[in-house]
Amino acid sequence: MRLSKFFMPILREAPREAEIVSHQLMLRCGMIRQETGGIYSWLPLGFRVLTRIMNIVRAEQARAGALEMLMPTIQPADLWRQSGRYDDYGKEMLRITDRRDNELLYGPTNEEMITSIVKSSVQSYKDLPLNLYHIQWKFRDEIRPRFGVMRGREFLMKDGYSFDLTEEAGREAYNRMFVAYLRTFAAMGLKAIPMRAETGPIGGNESHEFLILAETGESEVFFDRAFHDKDWSGFDIDYDDAAAVARVVEEFTSMYAATEDIHDPARFEEQVPPERRVQGRGIEVGQIFFFGTKYSRPMHCTVQGPDGKEVYLQSGSYGIGVSRLVAGIIESSHDEAGIIWPAPVAPFDLGLINLRQGDAATDAACERLYGELANAGLEVLYDDRPDRAGEKFTRMDLIGLPWQVIIGPRGVKSGVAELKNRASGEKTDIPLDAAAAILAEKCTTTAAHA
Ligand code: ATP
Ligand code: MG
Repeated sequence: MRLSKFFMPILREAPREAEIVSHQLMLRCGMIRQETGGIYSWLPLGFRVLTRIMNIVRAEQARAGALEMLMPTIQPADLWRQSGRYDDYGKEMLRITDRRDNELLYGPTNEEMITSIVKSSVQSYKDLPLNLYHIQWKFRDEIRPRFGVMRGREFLMKDGYSFDLTEEAGREAYNRMFVAYLRTFAAMGLKAIPMRAETGPIGGNESHEFLILAETGESEVFFDRAFHDKDWSGFDIDYDDAAAVARVVEEFTSMYAATEDIHDPARFEEQVPPERRVQGRGIEVGQIFFFGTKYSRPMHCTVQGPDGKEVYLQSGSYGIGVSRLVAGIIESSHDEAGIIWPAPVAPFDLGLINLRQGDAATDAACERLYGELANAGLEVLYDDRPDRAGEKFTRMDLIGLPWQVIIGPRGVKSGVAELKNRASGEKTDIPLDAAAAILAEKCTTTAAHA
């Protein structure tokens, strides 16, 4: 992508309404624009990150056996009357009446709808297990939308739902998603600590929230420092091996970790030696629930079991805050100069800076490398604008692509480009004629190691 043809409205200063660094940086980089309280447009740069996050989510869901689908944002109120949640949900739910006076709502979540889909289409235990998910906009009329997309009113969520015949199978489905979530967040360069959680308005018997640490997090968290030393991304998993999956869950749930609502100081002290007790703040990026028959009973969602008897399905639900993650990743990865994207979620793999746009030799060297990088399958943002070098460096640091390649007249004469690593700041000269090969190698290894 040539910067001269891209739409990335950079702001020199952070707008005053932005209180936290991720919100400031997202506005400054031209990733989002607020349309009204808690409702945002995603501009091209922001949308690229959102898309990469969605694709990471999709890849691991597919591995774990979940199927992607798409349900609408607008739902009939009657569906929510069946589960009894229509009145319970209160003012957070945006209620709509259409021209025929039908009562509708903008979905804050989809348990009712998916249960009704499964109820009408699944008759036999032989059609189970099922794990269905979608990535769709949700609306919750939050009392205090704030911190940009961190707590929006309209936000993008991945929500998945499992259906099983027996409680044991249902718990295995829960465990698979638990592990899938660890791996999904790790693939984005995040350590999201699973913490036992209250079930809240979604309900159910068992639940874990996944939190990433950040000073600006809204939840107070207490956990065992041992989490820091764990290997999060290194472990491979066979999702068909229920015992192996359960061992990972056991390993991650045996260490103390709790949010303030459920924190038990006595147990914390008993279980964790003083030097390992950590208290901090966290951002909830996902939550999973095991319901048992909480939704299937009131909604009469049954199948015929092996003995011919009707059985209520065992279900669970699994959410990821896809749009919140964009802000969460920035909160956990930035410096004074701007964002530092973990390679797998970066909007482009690297930035190419032409230091003297209009200088024939420099332009030619940049154009050639730009073409070679595209052929190597890399996504490059090529700064081909006629701006001063200083401005280009500041802008490239601000948007935080993992690698920068800098080409100027002096380098071109001696056949070198400068390569800069955004995270470490380290700079090295690389030969221009081998630059594409070197960069292709660097970009795949940083992506794999993040
Ligand atoms: P919170 O406690 O932050 O209000 P929640 O527990 O009500 O969130 P869930 O129903 O668990 O939210 O939704 C699944 C995920 O969706 C959350 O883990 C979070 O990452 C994301 N999410 C929830 N509410 C918002 C919001 N208002 N803006 C952005 N993301 C949100
Ligand atoms: Mg939650």
